[in-house]
Amino acid sequence: MTATTTTPNPPLLEVSNLRASVVDHELDQEILCGVNLTVRVGEIHALMGRNGSGKSTLSKVIAGHPSYVITAGSIRFQGRDLAELAPEERSRAGIFLGFQYPVEIPGVSNLEFLRVSTNARRIALGLEELDTFSFEDHLQQRLQLVQMDPSFLDRSLNEGFSGGEKKRNEILQMALLEPSLAILDETDSGLDIDALRIVAEGVNHLAGPNNATLLITHYQRLLEAVTPHFVHVMAHGRILRTAGPELAFELESKGYDWIDVEAGISSRADAIGEAEHELA
Ligand code: ADP
Ligand code: MG
Repeated sequence: MTATTTTPNPPLLEVSNLRASVVDHELDQEILCGVNLTVRVGEIHALMGRNGSGKSTLSKVIAGHPSYVITAGSIRFQGRDLAELAPEERSRAGIFLGFQYPVEIPGVSNLEFLRVSTNARRIALGLEELDTFSFEDHLQQRLQLVQMDPSFLDRSLNEGFSGGEKKRNEILQMALLEPSLAILDETDSGLDIDALRIVAEGVNHLAGPNNATLLITHYQRLLEAVTPHFVHVMAHGRILRTAGPELAFELESKGYDWIDVEAGISSRADAIGEAEHELA
């Protein structure tokens, strides 16, 4: 990262030489091959890269998704080793993961889901739980932010929601939970202009000096509306390049190939070999 003369903000997330594979996968294929990433409070980071480079896997491993196993390295969050925390404890500790493909849960009302998850986070923050009435007041202001029709609150969680509606709901969740670290994974199929605007406005509105955002996207469009402090490029399970927001524009015009060439890595096998070389 760039050298500065001022004292840097404390690290919120520190991913060090992280290697991870799919649990029980017959091929035992390594997906993350030595990821290093430091996110400090007050920062917005963009994580870019081709399809299949490992972006979603990194976000899921940070959130504690049971499909993946960490084989080496560590993830520290607010100074704690995340390996010691179950997924729901990570969430209560302030890690929010907006899924690339949000799950639909028939029979669970969106309102109830939002209230239960908001209260779990409030307890973790040492705040009072909100009863049904105070929760609805609390919710009203946040609904404005995402311009969501209140009728969505009475529906089952994400059931039959369009892509844009799921996105609004995800930003609403984020606004309610006030996470310390928000990780937003954007759909590869692309967000429509409306959804893009909601994500951008949500991130810009909620980003502050005490939290951080990791925006996973391969759309430079989003980064015209949200200016990240750092842009990282992931390829073959590693972060191959980190720079300022100008990198997103460079990628828009030059694509991703030059990054592999400059790093001398053109396959996952190279990335694994390189990570082993660095450890030796
Ligand atoms: P990205 O989000 O950058 O497009 P992913 O993290 O989704 O990439 O995937 C990285 C690679 O890991 C892909 O080759 C993908 O097929 C593989 N992968 C991810 N999760 C699994 C899984 N649960 N089982 C098998 N392969 C997986
Ligand atoms: Mg992905």
